[in-house]
Amino acid sequence: MPAISIHPSVDKGVRKGSANFSGGTLCCHCAQSPVTVQITGNVAHNHACGCTKCWKPKGAMFSVVAVVPRDKLKVTSGAQFLKIIDASATIQRHACTRCGVHMYGRIENKTHPFYGLDFVHVELSKEQGWAAPEFAAFVSSSIEAGAAKPEQMAAVRARLKELGLEPYDCLSPVLMDAIATHIAKAKGTLAAQGGAP
Ligand SMILES: [Zn+2]
Ligand SMILES: [Zn+2]
Repeated sequence: MPAISIHPSVDKGVRKGSANFSGGTLCCHCAQSPVTVQITGNVAHNHACGCTKCWKPKGAMFSVVAVVPRDKLKVTSGAQFLKIIDASATIQRHACTRCGVHMYGRIENKTHPFYGLDFVHVELSKEQGWAAPEFAAFVSSSIEAGAAKPEQMAAVRARLKELGLEPYDCLSPVLMDAIATHIAKAKGTLAAQGGAP
């Protein structure tokens, strides 16, 4: 059986980020007048994602996606080439209409737990030092995405663990707890002050 390829940016091992990284520029795949997005500061919660919606490079089984505060992200050129893939989706993915690369995903629903964060793919930048991927989300969804065969999943999970990317079938416990805490506070199940992990 051939070796499992997760994503080109992690297949040779996960590269550590640097503590004082100040940001960089994401560039779409167009050779001529690419769309560029400037990010100030580092990303957070970087992870491999097996869902059906995240953009991934050709042949990759997983995408690698992270978040950044929306006020730290700026489209610096080619804004006219960007189009929202699905305006009804929770995360509105702004993609280049020419090469198809997703430049950023934005949540416009102000009550959403992740409102205020944009989703980005740091592999689109030449700079090094971005926070490293920490885990793998929606691993079982890679079957649904057509990226992995059911009988491959044991090997896929084993490879993710080997890379230090703990596989989860939703988000990581930290993020699932953050979502649940947000919802519990909104519903009043959890008092707004204190009590939160
Ligand atoms: Zn995803
Ligand atoms: Zn493009």
